Amino acid sequence: MLQLGMPNSKPLTCAVPAGVRDALRQRMERTGESLDQAVSACLAEALDVELHSIFQVSTSGALVQGVYQAATTIGDVKRHGDFGLGTFVGLDGEGILLDGRGYRAGSDGTVSEVPDSMPAPFWVATKFRADVRETLDGIQSWADLCARLAALRPSENLLCAIRIDGVFDFIHVRVACKAESGVGLVEATSHQAEFQFENLEGTLVGFFTPTYVRTINVPGYHLHLLSTDHQHGGHVLEVRARSLRVAIHTTNDLHVVLPESAAFLHADLNADPTAALARAEGAQRG
Ligand SMILES: [Zn+2]
Repeated sequence: MLQLGMPNSKPLTCAVPAGVRDALRQRMERTGESLDQAVSACLAEALDVELHSIFQVSTSGALVQGVYQAATTIGDVKRHGDFGLGTFVGLDGEGILLDGRGYRAGSDGTVSEVPDSMPAPFWVATKFRADVRETLDGIQSWADLCARLAALRPSENLLCAIRIDGVFDFIHVRVACKAESGVGLVEATSHQAEFQFENLEGTLVGFFTPTYVRTINVPGYHLHLLSTDHQHGGHVLEVRARSLRVAIHTTNDLHVVLPESAAFLHADLNADPTAALARAEGAQRG
């Protein structure tokens, strides 16, 4: 049995009624869970604590189709996580959730903290708890960073949240500009703002998503920058750094909340968004 979701576990000794113990045994037989997993799952549910899951609002396929309306608020996203990324109504900026605070990088190059009432059309968040910590030296490029991160992940088939801290010798980010509803992601990001920085200290916040999840979330690595002084941010396209501290949180649990806006309800989400996402979210722009 894979021991996921238990990287920071602590022993707990307590007496429970015989009936509860029997019910727990029956659950373990039924589900195949270990005692640790069964007790953790039951307590987490009763106490409304989410264990290592990724919470997501809307889908990458909907973004490709130009569904950028409010689905929930940043305050709601923060109830499910202290770490994540997303966008704003009309694709107007890049969102970063770091250490429990939400930020918006605007296409004018500014960064501001957002109120909990801020509408959120597409967001991915988690309660970040690192399973793996490593220092990576001599990062030559985005492709190099992706390859080095791949060596730290346990599988191509699990989702990971990734936090990277350090000084970036060079970093190139984009910030999406406001788009009309229904304008697809590729067209909307064809006139994005781009910024390049040298010797910038900051944090990259984001996720690795397996290819098979491509209609739900952006496949591969998706990282947003927030500088340590909170003055700069954006969606990362290229990077070079001498030394970076990497923390990885792996999960096998994904919660997706779907919007109920008319735009989402009537969008055609059956197409494979891979090519559009690669073009809109990647560094290779056509
Ligand atoms: Zn992004």
